[in-house]
Amino acid sequence: MNEKRVYTFGNGKAEGRADMRNLLGGKGANLAEMNLIGVPVPPGFTITTEVCNEYFVKGKDAVVALLRDDVERSVRHIETLMNSKFGDATNPLLVSVRSGARASMPGMMDTILNLGLNDEVVKGLARKTGNERFAYDSYRRFVQMYGDVVLGMKPVNKDDIDPFEAIIMDVKSQRGIKLDNEMNTDELKQLVTRFKEAIKQQTGKEFPEDPIEQLWGAICAVFDSWMNDRAILYRKMEGIPQEWGTAVSVMAMVFGNMGNTSATGVCFSRDAATGENRFNGEYLVNAQGEDVVAGIRTPQQITREGSLRWAKQQGIDEATRASKYPSMEESMPEIYQQLNELQDKLEKHYHDMQDMEFTVQEGKLWFLQTRNGKRTGTAMVKIAMDLLHEGQIDEKTALERCEPNKLDELLHPVFDKKALKEAKVLTRGLPASPGAACGQIVFFADDASKWHADGHKVVMVRIETSPEDLAGMSAAEGILTARGGMTSHAAVVARGMGKCCVSGAGGIKVNYKDRTVEIGGVVLHEGDFISLNGSTGEVFQGEVKTKPAEVTGDFAELMKLCDKYTRMVVRTNADTPHDAEVARRFGAKGIGLCRTEHMFFENEKIKAMREMILSTTTEGREKALAKLLPYQTEDFYGILKTMDGQPVNIRLLDPPLHEFVPHDLKGQQAMAEEMHLPLEEIQHRVNALSEHNPMLGHRGCRLGNTYPEITAMQTRAILGAAIRLKREGYNPMPEIMVPLVGIDKEFKAQEGVIRRTASELFKKEGIELPFKVGTMIEIPRAALTADKIAKYAEYFSFGTNDLTQMTFGYSRDDIASFLPCYLDKKILTHDPFQVLDQEGVGQLIAGAVKKGRATRPELKCGICGEHGGEPSSVKFCHRTGLDYVSCSPFRVPIARLAAAQAAVEE
Ligand code: PEP
Ligand code: MG
Repeated sequence: MNEKRVYTFGNGKAEGRADMRNLLGGKGANLAEMNLIGVPVPPGFTITTEVCNEYFVKGKDAVVALLRDDVERSVRHIETLMNSKFGDATNPLLVSVRSGARASMPGMMDTILNLGLNDEVVKGLARKTGNERFAYDSYRRFVQMYGDVVLGMKPVNKDDIDPFEAIIMDVKSQRGIKLDNEMNTDELKQLVTRFKEAIKQQTGKEFPEDPIEQLWGAICAVFDSWMNDRAILYRKMEGIPQEWGTAVSVMAMVFGNMGNTSATGVCFSRDAATGENRFNGEYLVNAQGEDVVAGIRTPQQITREGSLRWAKQQGIDEATRASKYPSMEESMPEIYQQLNELQDKLEKHYHDMQDMEFTVQEGKLWFLQTRNGKRTGTAMVKIAMDLLHEGQIDEKTALERCEPNKLDELLHPVFDKKALKEAKVLTRGLPASPGAACGQIVFFADDASKWHADGHKVVMVRIETSPEDLAGMSAAEGILTARGGMTSHAAVVARGMGKCCVSGAGGIKVNYKDRTVEIGGVVLHEGDFISLNGSTGEVFQGEVKTKPAEVTGDFAELMKLCDKYTRMVVRTNADTPHDAEVARRFGAKGIGLCRTEHMFFENEKIKAMREMILSTTTEGREKALAKLLPYQTEDFYGILKTMDGQPVNIRLLDPPLHEFVPHDLKGQQAMAEEMHLPLEEIQHRVNALSEHNPMLGHRGCRLGNTYPEITAMQTRAILGAAIRLKREGYNPMPEIMVPLVGIDKEFKAQEGVIRRTASELFKKEGIELPFKVGTMIEIPRAALTADKIAKYAEYFSFGTNDLTQMTFGYSRDDIASFLPCYLDKKILTHDPFQVLDQEGVGQLIAGAVKKGRATRPELKCGICGEHGGEPSSVKFCHRTGLDYVSCSPFRVPIARLAAAQAAVEE
């Protein structure tokens, strides 16, 4: 623990730096850094993230006592630099209190502005600024924010009305006005009085008039907000550890609401949705920061180019745009010039796209924040490639800049161009986050989660979203909002999640009560289908057809870069030519696991399979298997052909036989009829096959060892297909894999069957083909005796699904009953079936690789469990010396990037 708990900054000096983000949070570290590089930032101080942890251990009083001297000294530091005094009625200093964790969590935690105002100070502020309206506008905002955040006035349920909003509505309706900025000073004063009464009534406590008491209340509330539900959920989604904590930054207030030479805004050095290199953002004249992000007023664009584009999307003519919604470039050209230079300076300093907040107070520009901007998957790839081409970063950095899991967004379907042409456009909003989304309309976050859990695809339609809607947004295919600009909460969060979002669609009328939305004269109800194009902002009626994504442009270039640095190869798990083809397009270099059991289910095949299961003699089974042989050969032919010239690792039959017989009476009756056998006989056989722990039962090579004729048939089918392809001029590379081996003798016996069958077949066909015989390592005993197994096996493929199951003793099928509790209690940090347990299962893998290669130095090792497409597990495989990972087709690019990053990180 650091002894120093508080770090000050201001006037070109700072005790912190950019690389101290773990201690000062991203915001605190960058505020310090901006000071050091000459970007104008209001003075302030940051309380460290370590204090946040202390706060939750030692409690509020103890931490306040520990901080008191430092905080009071730091407030004096701000007073000196601002030449004003906190709590003073003649020359008052106001501050903002902001949260800021190591990783940015937009909108998840709390912020309080205008702190330090009370009934006396507000008069001083009015006198000092000569602007009474401004003073009371700031005061009413402060009381409302403080009431919500610190005093717990925020409504709990979605149907409850915010008590402050109700008062504002009442005051406005009395005079028949609509907008907040139409209220006069008396009305603002009224708000303050009525807000305070509401606080007294609801909490039983007076609003604190003492600025120091206000300050401590706010600091503690920011710490508390680290543990609010939405912050916890966000951390869970983004994998942010609770121990990181949040820092608290206290800064002198600068005001964007001091009249028409004041403004506030948010801007990005590049486009966060598409990645294009164009400065963009939004601002509002005479407003405070929350007005821009809350999406209540329609923000204006910063650049003229952006403004023209925006007006076109909104269907606003040039005369209206120029008079009502001019860009900052047009309305405040000098400030725009400075802003543009500084955004460029910041991007070049951090070598990454910056997301910045600023305020203009009476013609002077201040930066309140800069951070590496959240972006979509598409933007992530484009920005990394562009920065590389511009020489701002090198190849390795470009690879590191891309987050493997975020590539997922680029692999999702896009709208089919033809279907798009025929689709009915209902309206147009802002293209806030790209992608194609199609689903049933829901209006509330909890409904989105519920419907999603029931298997529906939903699109969430809202007037605007708030951080409370996070869980619903994550469950939805896309989000459509009536209000809010490109930097509204909905837009920022959706981009971070890679969710399609159309925001600020002014043409929609949402009626929460009736659960309807009217779009361009059409009334849609909850449950009706709607489609969104997040790249153009178009909203379509009904379901619009989609088509698969392609690896082209920057994405293809990134993948090429991966190939340059990677050591491991990425294969795919595929059981059909179609999946193999998809994976090949995504860059898979062969098949790491072809599960054969799925090939037995179509009509004739399942009949022959059941015949085999029913027969009690070898001859009977062989007869039934002979019927299966041509089907199997055909299946393998298709897959080997698709993967021509690449290895195809085919696993012999693995699941227990009872999976192939019906368990319900109706199914058993049908089977009896088909097989011309009495029902009782079928039932008898089904009962005989049933097992208490089928995962540990008669499966894997235990099947092949009890019924070698199955192994022989599959070998004939695999090599038969390969021979046919060879004769047709292809280059098949089959590998035959024995599953669930635990004892070397199990493997040796199976290998014997395979090799004998192969030589018989080669003799009969008069042709010889190279092929490999290997094993899965998915039983701990196999890992522990890998040196012996490697005497016979030419390769190992780690089946980490079963290996995890047997190492932990957790059933793959039953873990859900206790996993949530284990995750909550932090007994487990991840689901071990998704993220490889490097500490335990990883030891078995590493040990088996070492032992196996001690026997057979050229032993090829790979992984084919679900972990083969999970980035942290892929990196472990690299470090452990595996030759390849194999994963489902849609994770191939993710694994390729993770593998390349592992090589770069070495
Ligand atoms: C495994 O166990 O990891 C594996 C790939 O096989 P399956 O999931 O088919 O049991
Ligand atoms: Mg397995």
